[in-house]
Amino acid sequence: MWYNPGEYRLLVSLASLLAPAFLSMNVEKESNRQNLQVNAKRLWDTIMETANIGGTAVGGICRQALTDNDRRVRDWFVKECESIGCTVTVDEVGNIFAHRRGKNNSLPPIAMGSHLDTQPSGGKFDGIVGVLSGLEVVRTLNDASYVTSAPLEVVNWTNEEGSRFAPPMLGSGVFAGVFDLDFAYSRKDRDGRKFGEELERIGYGGKVKCGDHRLGAYFELHIEQGPVLEAENKMIGVVTGVQSQRWYEVTVTGRESHAGSTPMHLRKDAMLACARMVEAINQIALSHAPLAVSTVGLVEVNPNSRNVIPGSVFFSVDLRHPNDTVLGEMDKELKAAVEKVVTAMGLKAKLDNFWSAPSVKFDEVCIDAVRTTVEDLGYSYRYMISGAGHDAVYIARVAPTAMIFIPCQNGISHNELENTEPEYVAAGANTLLSTIIGHDKAVQHSGA
Ligand SMILES: [Zn+2]
Repeated sequence: MWYNPGEYRLLVSLASLLAPAFLSMNVEKESNRQNLQVNAKRLWDTIMETANIGGTAVGGICRQALTDNDRRVRDWFVKECESIGCTVTVDEVGNIFAHRRGKNNSLPPIAMGSHLDTQPSGGKFDGIVGVLSGLEVVRTLNDASYVTSAPLEVVNWTNEEGSRFAPPMLGSGVFAGVFDLDFAYSRKDRDGRKFGEELERIGYGGKVKCGDHRLGAYFELHIEQGPVLEAENKMIGVVTGVQSQRWYEVTVTGRESHAGSTPMHLRKDAMLACARMVEAINQIALSHAPLAVSTVGLVEVNPNSRNVIPGSVFFSVDLRHPNDTVLGEMDKELKAAVEKVVTAMGLKAKLDNFWSAPSVKFDEVCIDAVRTTVEDLGYSYRYMISGAGHDAVYIARVAPTAMIFIPCQNGISHNELENTEPEYVAAGANTLLSTIIGHDKAVQHSGA
């Protein structure tokens, strides 16, 4: 078709008027994809909605693993994931995977998640923020019709808390090959009910072999469960690893005798020895400041009578440090301190190191994906080592892993008063979303 010069000039000027609009629409569309934001209100409302499942009178949650409340929240989660187009599978240990297809489904999925079980008097956020933010990431991508290259998965790991069935992180532990399936099934609660039977009872003994499921990467968003971010007024913790930990039990044996008729120089006071040890244990952490921590949190005095000099004392010791070598030195210092006290006082002590967990270093590429995202989004942040255990500890053994922390009020967790702010949850979920998108692009470009 031909135009006369007048019509042509009109067309050109129309085109030049419209082109920037078209261009800016495309640019806007592209930049929106780069800067997608979660729907913070929808996420917060979802957290509050599910908090009713096992909700307590003072605003906490009682939703221990494999109870009816755990079944209810699992049913809700499965239904919700299916309603937004995910395919849900459940493995033999009850871990739930909600799968969203990508463009290249031969790639292993990029996973996000945590746990929906709680302590008997737990809070609304521990674990829950990680799972529900994963769900919100998928909802947001759906809203924007954004399809990642690799598939995505939102995961709910079974029995992270370990309060009903010890040890903790059992679902992720079986997945990572730390525990075998029979060990998990044989765990008993205080009423003698077995994990395997309770899993069947609530209908979550899945058919999929646990661990037979490669993950391309794993990102876990969690509340800090400590006071550091809030104290430093930082929005995000870029978690580089989890510290090394050792648990001990100490029994000090002295001699019971009458509080009135036994002169001070003839006593064998087990409680006094314990007190000196507690002071020494405190000093051990202080001498490896600022990263070492030591705690005596449980003490049993025998016979625990006000006019009897204590004959024996049983107490726990919890030592932690990010560096295994330093923790090894603290271990030696603990043994020496206990020995020194009992030798000086003429008593006996038995020290049992019954559980040790080496430190975990998260994947450099995943940590960097989180850090660059946080910098791009303009959130204040700091690097940190997790003081608590998480599912990410075990998943790090089988997939590149990192964690994102958000502040929680006064650092309080494992408590019905556990609290955080909607803006922190939004910042954490936006960090998770952009990290997933960024990591997916990097995987796509590397052709991995
Ligand atoms: Zn947790």
